[in-house]
Amino acid sequence: MKTVLITGGAGFIGSTFTRHMFNKYPDYRIVVVDALTYAGSVENLPIPIWQQENDRFSFWYGNVINGELMDTLVSKADMVVHFAAESHVTRSIYDNSQFFQTDVLGTQIVANAVCKYRDQIERFVHISTSEVYGTALSDSMGEEHQLNPMSPYAAAKCGADRLVYSYWATYGIPSVIVRPFNNFGPRQHLEKVIPRFITSVLLKEKLRVHGDGQSARDFIFAEDNCEAIDAILHAPAEKVVGEVFNVGSGEHRSILSIAKDITEMMCRNNDCLIHVGDRPGQVMRHTANIDKLKRVIGFTPKTDWHAGLEKTIDWYMNNEEWWRKQMWMREIPIIAVSGKRELH
Ligand code: NAD
Repeated sequence: MKTVLITGGAGFIGSTFTRHMFNKYPDYRIVVVDALTYAGSVENLPIPIWQQENDRFSFWYGNVINGELMDTLVSKADMVVHFAAESHVTRSIYDNSQFFQTDVLGTQIVANAVCKYRDQIERFVHISTSEVYGTALSDSMGEEHQLNPMSPYAAAKCGADRLVYSYWATYGIPSVIVRPFNNFGPRQHLEKVIPRFITSVLLKEKLRVHGDGQSARDFIFAEDNCEAIDAILHAPAEKVVGEVFNVGSGEHRSILSIAKDITEMMCRNNDCLIHVGDRPGQVMRHTANIDKLKRVIGFTPKTDWHAGLEKTIDWYMNNEEWWRKQMWMREIPIIAVSGKRELH
């Protein structure tokens, strides 16, 4: 029985991945470690917490900064997938201390444990982000695009990304770095743009669009991202270890067009949009080049934008109890580019 250790497995993408692995591999033991920050919840796990003594699944309420805990958990694992991070760009604008603690130093602790047990660990997948690239300098961004992080979140993730690379180069850890582009889907925190727009429509509020809404991102349905991570986790070592892989859809769409798609799909007209100041350090456009993922792994995302959005809208319509608790965290006060204090 293989043991897969998943850090941050109670968050949005981590829990999507945890459920995917739990359902797909009945002969794997899944171990989740999560500090349950405001972004994590045991409700996201594949089975109720009181059944965790199940042979196939266990949950550890713990912090990746805890070296002893990580040493113990990694020592019993065959594969490690590291999602745990502070993940919200806007929040990193007004207080970034926790971002550097968790995203950089937490990754160092996890990587140290992997290094110690590198003869036994088959694969260490580090979840980085496309935010490390900054604004696209070419039509689409391949893995060799310059790293120009534009926010404290992106800078912290960039530090972690290069830290993992250096551990592969120096100590030969069996690492792969995955750079997902923007994910969307069920169970994403209301602070993120798509759940915020969907719940604004449900609550009959105006949808707040940053700047003119022309900044654009490449969105991938979270389940597709998790299938790609699974494929990378199981690919032959000689194809992936020491490599970086983008995971995205290969298409970008503007925030304004997303707001319009959501209002149209939820039968509301566009006069409910309001524009607020742009986010400082805004990245203007992200489009993934996923040629390497297709060529080396043979993976192409299967959920198209509208199908993924429909599933996401349905989920929020049917799970108000889950998201109501997050209402107070939907708006984040920052000093915008204009110098004014604004809720983003
Ligand atoms: P999330 O904020 O929903 O979840 C993060 C999880 O990590 C939470 O469960 C939280 O409790 C846990 N966590 C935070 N600090 C921890 C610590 N010190 N120790 C243990 N657990 C801790 O984030 P997400 O959107 O699911 O993102 C997961 C990963 O994917 C992150 O590394 C993020 O940078 C990366 N990523 C996210 C996106 C996206 O669009 N959401 C895109 C690219 C990359």
